[in-house]
Amino acid sequence: MKKFRKPRKLRRNRKDECDHDEADGPVIDESVLSEKELLGLQQAEERLKRDYIYRLKKQSRSYPSAKYTCKLCDVLIESVAFAYKHIKEKRHKKSLKEKQEEQLLTALPPPTPSQIKAIGVAIENVVQEFGLSNEDLEERLNIKTVMENLLHQKLPGII
Ligand SMILES: [Zn+2]
Repeated sequence: MKKFRKPRKLRRNRKDECDHDEADGPVIDESVLSEKELLGLQQAEERLKRDYIYRLKKQSRSYPSAKYTCKLCDVLIESVAFAYKHIKEKRHKKSLKEKQEEQLLTALPPPTPSQIKAIGVAIENVVQEFGLSNEDLEERLNIKTVMENLLHQKLPGII
């Protein structure tokens, strides 16, 4: 096994300029956990996912002991315990609220026929109260004609 690993690593190092030197393997070694611990971890992670906190796929070079990341706040987190602490922080709560509002808006259902009808009635009322009547319209057309004639007289050739 060891014999195979070494050349593979060397080749990779050369190719990636040591970028992934420490990034091999999962950030959490599940094989050392008991069945119960693993189940507990999975449940905790499911809960954290609702807060947009995910386990890192590979080790972070800038923060090698980090195991989780909060996608909302773009931060690295060391453990489940710290993740729980993080979701209680004001900054995170604020980002989460914004995210939830954003999702609520994009998930709004289309209006029902009765809602469309109600909006139609509301617009009709506004038009009746503030809109132009036929008389108003005629008056405006008259003003336009008068103005046009006046301009023609005073400034011939401009219109
Ligand atoms: Zn966060």
